Amino acid sequence: MEQLIPRVISRLRKLIATKLLTQFKGGSLCELCQQKCQQVPQLAKQQPGQQYSLICSTCNDDLPRFDLTDCQANLLNEPKIYHSLTKIKFQSLLAFAPYQWPYNLWITQLKYSGRFEVANLMAGLFTEHLQLSLAKKKLPQLIIPVPLHAWRLKKRQYNQAALLAYELARQLGCLYDENLIQRQKNTVPQVGQSGASRRKNLRGAFTLNAGVDLPDHVGIVDDVLTTGTTVNEVAKLLTHHGVKKITVMSICIAIV
Ligand SMILES: [Zn+2]
Repeated sequence: MEQLIPRVISRLRKLIATKLLTQFKGGSLCELCQQKCQQVPQLAKQQPGQQYSLICSTCNDDLPRFDLTDCQANLLNEPKIYHSLTKIKFQSLLAFAPYQWPYNLWITQLKYSGRFEVANLMAGLFTEHLQLSLAKKKLPQLIIPVPLHAWRLKKRQYNQAALLAYELARQLGCLYDENLIQRQKNTVPQVGQSGASRRKNLRGAFTLNAGVDLPDHVGIVDDVLTTGTTVNEVAKLLTHHGVKKITVMSICIAIV
């Protein structure tokens, strides 16, 4: 039975890809294998007129993904992942893949070069994976992004986590709110800092908009999860305001 479920999921995934498959007429090449072949049209609900078929169905099938059925749709049940995170303050973790090629490339392009179509692609792939791996009732009612400080938002012009969160919420049919939580402190980049100094940096960094009715289950979206310090701070705030279940939804996990 345990071996059957991944096989059924793989079969279903192929079936959906085949069903959605159309002959690509744009003349572009798959950006991973550089072949002109059948492209995967966007996997879930597509905005009318949008065209962002970037990869072919063969490359799509070959992309690394976490198996979300083995862990009962919660990657915190995976010891290697659980022990790589610090003082976890959320109940559930869903992620699409380990932080490796091509996701590291796409996330860098999204973050620093404004290549927005990869946000739609990654959200589409993640949505399809979630729809095949878990029941809709296990999804959060409301999805929010990890917020950027206003100063950094002004400098970068956009929050890459918000682009991903918006697409995920739209494609999964969940509520979306990017203003629920504000980042008050403009913290220095966390890379290379110890866990203790990351936590100290982020203490009191977030505030919640008062007067908003919160559902029982909220999803926090980020592009890459590393130590989990930032999402922990957001999760603590939500729990303090009565949220019962928090699911962190990250495109990738960088296991340190
Ligand atoms: Zn390809």
